[in-house]
Parts: sequence; structure tokens; C-alpha cells
Amino acid sequence: MYYGFDVGGTKIEFGAFDSELKRQATERVPTPGDNYEQLIETLAALVAKYDAQFGCEGTVGIGIPGIEKAEDGTVLTVNVPAAKGRTLRADLEAKIGRAVALNNDANCFALSEAWDEELQGEKVVLGLILGTGFGGGIIVDGKVVSGKNNVAGELGHMRMPIDAWLHLGDNAPIFDCGCEKKGCIDNYLSGRGFEMLYAHFHGEEKKAIDIINAFKAGEKTESEFVDKYMEMLAMVFAGLFTGIDPDVVVLGGGLSNFEYIYEEMPKRVPKYLLSIANAPKIIKAKHGDSGGVRGAAFLNIQR
Ligand SMILES: [Zn+2]
Repeated sequence: MYYGFDVGGTKIEFGAFDSELKRQATERVPTPGDNYEQLIETLAALVAKYDAQFGCEGTVGIGIPGIEKAEDGTVLTVNVPAAKGRTLRADLEAKIGRAVALNNDANCFALSEAWDEELQGEKVVLGLILGTGFGGGIIVDGKVVSGKNNVAGELGHMRMPIDAWLHLGDNAPIFDCGCEKKGCIDNYLSGRGFEMLYAHFHGEEKKAIDIINAFKAGEKTESEFVDKYMEMLAMVFAGLFTGIDPDVVVLGGGLSNFEYIYEEMPKRVPKYLLSIANAPKIIKAKHGDSGGVRGAAFLNIQR
């Protein structure tokens, strides 16, 4: 069995998957605030419980909104205080006596989609999350590409490309990023960025869903804004696609439900690619909220 833990700020989701990648168990428990020992105990207890239930030693993978520092294995995370600065992977390994895989939740999302039945034959799958933030995960041959510092796929912290920037016009905003840099694409492409850009250009705070509904109703201001956003998105996407050259791109997060993206990107992206390149297929994520736990479990699969 493949066990996966999606460790979030408020809850931990456990999932067990069989050799056909079908889910055989699900359990959700609260994340123990900032109590690290309790976090380890909670994870270990679930492993022991399902080992007993299935009569085997499952492999263990953890997805977490954070990054494991390559040099010392400590976890850099804001949203899970209990794991912050701790060697979570090594400590759980010692506790349960087996190897533990740990990766960023955006990489787990991408991995989950790459192991979808229809995508398993694809060489390079790029997962992009257009949620509260903008993040990504690069999957090659069914494996996460983490890079030397475990930051591969942190595409949201690349800065805006010059064409996208110029496209926003003379009054383009320079947004500060949580990573302490300026102009990271996270703050322009994400659902939050979508709202921040609208507020900047139109002087009014509006929820993304309200902007989209007004666009669908044919309102002029929102239609112009959505057109501006789509062109910017195509420009940024084209840069990412030139660097990564994926076979398939899977979109997740709240804004990925905006169907207009899938109509517009195939029309708009190609003109920003190298002339020799074709745009990859861009599709909506299929596994939604279960992506984190699936991807965490699938960290241990070998193709
Ligand atoms: Zn940043």
C-alpha cells in the first residue's frame, strides 16, 4: 500500500492507495497546533493503524505547504507551525522504522495529476496552481523534479517577464511578494493577484468570482480586464513553457475553474513561443481536493 499524508494548517488528511492506485482508506484528523511531538505521534499512529488493518507495511509520503531545506532537512513552512524548522522526515523515519518521502504540496498536486490514468504515458507534466497563490510542480517520467535546493517548480517566485509587464501599461503595479522580492508572478497570476490587479486598475475591491460573473454578463469594464489578464497569462505561460517544454499542463486552484482560460490559452500562447514550438495541451485538474494526499502517496511509486 501507498500511504499519503496531506499535512495542512488545520487538518491532516491520510489516504491509503493500493497497487492500482485506488484509494482504500481515508482519514482526517486535526493538525496539532504547534506541538511537534504530537504531530509525529499522530502520523505514526495512523501508519500503525493502517499497517494493522491492511496487514502490510505501507510506504509513507508527506505533502506539506513548505520546503525541506536541502542542507539539513529542516522544514521551511509558515502554515504548519508544528513542523516549522523541524526535521520532520528524519524524525518520522526514526519513529516508524522506514523511509519517508516528503515534498511540497504543489509538487504533490502535480504528481497526483501526472499519475491520472489518462496522463500516465506523458513524459513531462507541468502542474500549475492558480489559487490564492500561484505555484507549480514539474513531473518527469512520473517523478517530481525537486532540484538541488528543493525549489524547482517554485514558479510563482520567478519575476514577471518583460512583455507581460509592458502589456500592463504605464500604470503597471509593482507588487511586493511574501518572499521579500518584488514583481514575482505569484502576485499577478494567482486568484489574489487577479483581484489585486483589478483593484489597482479600477480602484475597486472585487472578488474574483464577481469579476468573472460580470465578465460573463458582458460588462464592459470586467470584459476589458479579463482580456488584459488573459493576454498577460498567455505571455507568462509561454515563458514557462519555453523553459520547461511540457507535454501537458494541468491547472488547479480556484481560478482554474474559469473555463475561458482553456478557450483562450490555445489561441493566445503560441505567438509568444519559439516559432519551432507548439503549445502544450492545457487541461483542468481532475483530482481536486484529493490531489495533495494522492500526490503524497505517489511520491513512492516507481514507473
Ligand atoms: Zn516571491
